Amino acid sequence: MVVSESQFQDEIIKYKKLYYASNRLHSYLDEEKILGEVIITFQDIFSNYMFSLQHLQDLYQELNEDNPKIKAFISGEIYVEKIRSNQGCILYAPLKGKEVVNGVIQVTAPNTLEIPEYDIEIITLLTTTIASAIENAKLYSQSTQVISDLQLINETSQKLNSNLQLTETMEYMSNQIIQTFDAQEVGFFLFSRDRTKVRVLPGTTPFFLTKPSKTYVDLLEAKIHKENESIFIGDCNLQPINDIKKYRSIMAVPIIQDNSLRGFSAVMHQNPNFFSQENFNLLQGLLFHSSLALMNSLLQEELEHMVKTDHLTKLHSRNYLDESIQYSMKDDNEGTFMLIDIDNFKEINDIFGHQVGDEVLIQVANLIKKNIRGNDVGARWGGEELAIYLPKVSMEEGLVIAERLVKTVEECTFPKITVSCGVSYWNKDSQDTYNYLFKRADDALYLAKGTGKNKVVAQKTA
Ligand code: GH3
Ligand code: MG
Ligand code: MG
Repeated sequence: MVVSESQFQDEIIKYKKLYYASNRLHSYLDEEKILGEVIITFQDIFSNYMFSLQHLQDLYQELNEDNPKIKAFISGEIYVEKIRSNQGCILYAPLKGKEVVNGVIQVTAPNTLEIPEYDIEIITLLTTTIASAIENAKLYSQSTQVISDLQLINETSQKLNSNLQLTETMEYMSNQIIQTFDAQEVGFFLFSRDRTKVRVLPGTTPFFLTKPSKTYVDLLEAKIHKENESIFIGDCNLQPINDIKKYRSIMAVPIIQDNSLRGFSAVMHQNPNFFSQENFNLLQGLLFHSSLALMNSLLQEELEHMVKTDHLTKLHSRNYLDESIQYSMKDDNEGTFMLIDIDNFKEINDIFGHQVGDEVLIQVANLIKKNIRGNDVGARWGGEELAIYLPKVSMEEGLVIAERLVKTVEECTFPKITVSCGVSYWNKDSQDTYNYLFKRADDALYLAKGTGKNKVVAQKTA
């Protein structure tokens, strides 16, 4: 084919424009922006043709292989279609990158039988340029997403590892999940060691404390136990109890420690297909990296409980009582303290055996728990001696409680036993100390024992 001088000049201009367009498109890091300039770029190079861009989502809707633009889309090759005779022709050029076709450009050449070879070549080069610019932009946005995901995981696990309080740990985690995934409900569930019970951890949203949530929790629990892996439900068709709230998007991720399943976390939204695959991956990463901190917090909480609680009676430990009294003597205006000792306990042990002795001790402890309020501290002082501290309670009120307790013990224990009780009291007006408060109760108890037992004796007034 002979190339005329004017054709040659035309070709040079087109290549120059192609070169500038390529530079410009590659400088964009945003896919939308590139797609937005496709038509003007083509139009700028070829003023005699008309162009339109067929987007991916439109192409997917008309996947019919007889359709020429679908042919170009599927094959990744240019496809030329002649419109009636002498009317012109249409060319379909796929925006084919290294991995996928990102759309199809429709080129309409009116009044032309054939689009010249060198134009097709430039069209091919331009579509390749556009496709590669799109892929770059996609890679860029994926990498910024990965960076921000890693930042979130890093930030969360750092924060969690620096803080061992369970409630704070879980609430922080819950907030991160709600903010990151736009979740409506978040729940953290922990299995008991024998896996028969599920404990709801702090940070869980209130919905999971209501009855309708049971349908979801039971389903997820069973699935997690069975499959031992994360669950992603795009459109859940469960009929919850009462049909009040229906959650259609659900993600659940197991909480694993030392390769064993300890519980799971659930994230839900009422709209279907609300969470993306990326959300799901990120949630798994987040929980994987946070489960160590979570387990540490739980361990810490268990240890704290052990230190604070007496194993046999489940009353508070002596340590905890000591601390509570000291805090109260700093912060409150008054308080009443009582020491309780089982009468003739040695005999109980001798007659019924030590085990029955233990059971009686537990009975007394339970009566104490029943007779005091939430802020009061019932404790095992040591051996068969128990103690109660009543913050902000006067001597008169304290004595009523003590009398009631002595009476109840006599009435409600089996085998029947009695207790003696020494009561002491402090207020802000006197220069009192914790040791002296204890000594006065101990002296009063001694007096009760010496004067017939099964009674309450108040401290001597100083
Ligand atoms: P009283 O206090 O009325 O003077 O007589 P008592 O028989 O209770 O006398 P004492 O305080 O000397 O003896 C306490 C007994 O309580 C001794 C010990 O065998 C028993 N004891 C202490 N701690 C426990 C315990 O945890 N379980 C059982 N079963 N017995 C205990
Ligand atoms: Mg004793
Ligand atoms: Mg005793």
